[in-house]
Amino acid sequence: MTGGRIRAACVLIAAAVLSAASTAGRAASDPAHDTHSFARPAEARVTHVALDLRADFAARTLAGTATLTLAVAPGAREVVLDTKDLVIERVTEERGGTLRHTFGDTDPVRGRPLLIALPAGGSRVVVHYRTTPQSVALQWLTPEQTAGRKQPYLFSQGQAILTRTWIPTQDSPGIRQTYRARIVVPPELRAVMSAEHLTPDGVPVPGGRAFEFALDSPIPPYLIAVAVGDIAFRPVGAGNSQRTGVFAEPSVLDRAAYEFADLDRMLAAAEALYGPYRWGRYDILVMPPSFPFGGMENPRLTFVSPTALAGDRSLTSLAAHELAHSWSGNLVTNATWRDFWLNEGFTTYFQNRIMEQLYGPERAQMLATIERQELQEELDRFSGTPRQTALYADVQGQDPDANLSAVPYDKGAAFLRMLELHVGRERFDAWLRSYFERHAFGSITTPQFVEDLRATLLGNDAALERELRIREWLFEPGLPGNDTPPTSPTLERAAAEARRFADGSPAASLQTEGWATQQWQRFLATLPERLTGAQLADLDATLHLSERGNAEVLFLWLRLAIRNEYKPAYASLERFLTSQGRRKFVEPLFKALLDTPAGQTEARRIYARARPLYHTSARQALDVLLDPSSRPSRSH
Ligand SMILES: [Zn+2]
Repeated sequence: MTGGRIRAACVLIAAAVLSAASTAGRAASDPAHDTHSFARPAEARVTHVALDLRADFAARTLAGTATLTLAVAPGAREVVLDTKDLVIERVTEERGGTLRHTFGDTDPVRGRPLLIALPAGGSRVVVHYRTTPQSVALQWLTPEQTAGRKQPYLFSQGQAILTRTWIPTQDSPGIRQTYRARIVVPPELRAVMSAEHLTPDGVPVPGGRAFEFALDSPIPPYLIAVAVGDIAFRPVGAGNSQRTGVFAEPSVLDRAAYEFADLDRMLAAAEALYGPYRWGRYDILVMPPSFPFGGMENPRLTFVSPTALAGDRSLTSLAAHELAHSWSGNLVTNATWRDFWLNEGFTTYFQNRIMEQLYGPERAQMLATIERQELQEELDRFSGTPRQTALYADVQGQDPDANLSAVPYDKGAAFLRMLELHVGRERFDAWLRSYFERHAFGSITTPQFVEDLRATLLGNDAALERELRIREWLFEPGLPGNDTPPTSPTLERAAAEARRFADGSPAASLQTEGWATQQWQRFLATLPERLTGAQLADLDATLHLSERGNAEVLFLWLRLAIRNEYKPAYASLERFLTSQGRRKFVEPLFKALLDTPAGQTEARRIYARARPLYHTSARQALDVLLDPSSRPSRSH
């Protein structure tokens, strides 16, 4: 997933401490044990989920059945599922006979275990249930929160441990499951899922249309994803492979198809690097403007923020990141949330290699350098709690989403770059290709990764392992001494232009021709925080910063404008804040406004207009900032 820079900060839930019993004993001795799940897969394990659900937009619920196929160990008597904020109506055998079910104690982070007595000789259970408005994986948008503003919209976000709020299953990334689904939606809407679309146009049924899906490759349950709305489709790319396309609301479809026109080239580049794409189609769903995240790598169907639509294909690194997850994360998955860096570190490295393949080494080097700068900022931020900068994460007893940072992404990528530098690119690439092959459709832990690395790349050479500081990289805070930070002369030149401007050169004299996003980012980040109105007017008039379609560049410019209370940019600011709701952009801009003397009134006025558009998680964060007396509410 992508939030921060491009990673998705999942719905924030305050970190809560798990009950004492939950983390005791087994967790310490067995790294493969997932302390964020109640499941006991050694006894009975979910292997397949079949959903039959109806979407009720008025009640904001999905209701129906989940039929689970189980692998049952001899002598096992019950299966334990993860649930949270679900109403379980009854549990039956496939033929309808009632099965006894009970609940365990509710845990604030993990939810409530559902224990089902196994049917004699059977390997299927049917859970009759419905979601509730508290089911945080499901986001029910009003028409105002969409681009078309006429139809409501629903989407799910399962990572990290939210799938249990809409599907009663074993919600652990180490318990891979295939799935099928039949989703009934209002007749004017279309359902899409992270699976093969068996009935792309739907089938009329009483009161709606039914859409059917199947994914025969086993995935971690956080990747089961659905979206329902006024959604149209268009294939993109050269047409020979016909593997790529875009889904979006009709009014956004042209822009989406233009922006992602290179998707099939990107897919071919990724395959040339690290082996065949194993999922069939690769499509991108451009989400409504209120989508609070950067992107989410749901298999076959990446969900991305519309802020990726820069209008000039300048933000395609986000698509490269989500595509890379088709290998790192979706094909080879972190077995527990301690091992999250195995998803994101490998993906950040792979993303950079795709960008290099498509746009050349200079662009890739710029990206890596910007990421490194972000990592350094993150390491500084955690200087008081350095444990949080270890790759093997200490998330036991906490919500894995509570402390999302750049560490698993950028430190993970730095570790792989160190390995590449040491063994040489050719050998490293062959190893990485074999790694994806060896662990395809599997979930692994960090200790298992170390074993694998020793055997397959380091030749079980203990001295080499010490020399490369493998243990330090994975289990200790900060960056080890054999780290080689990436540098970019191209970015340095952009920084030099910013300093020249600060020293009094006019904007017209700056050499900005042909700059990539990262050069603009470095330029704007290097400008002094305080500039005069005349300087800002010169920049804006010459470089047209207030009119940028590239959200990353526009964001940095607007933040600079706010810090200097440069009013001529405020029309652009208001437009930006009322046309998209990505938390990475809207929250820092409102905070910056509130930090200026006259900003309170302006911030409240703009927020009153923007709030109906924003996603619940963004509203919760901003309500606290902008109206301390208001209570965070989940109801809208
Ligand atoms: Zn990611």
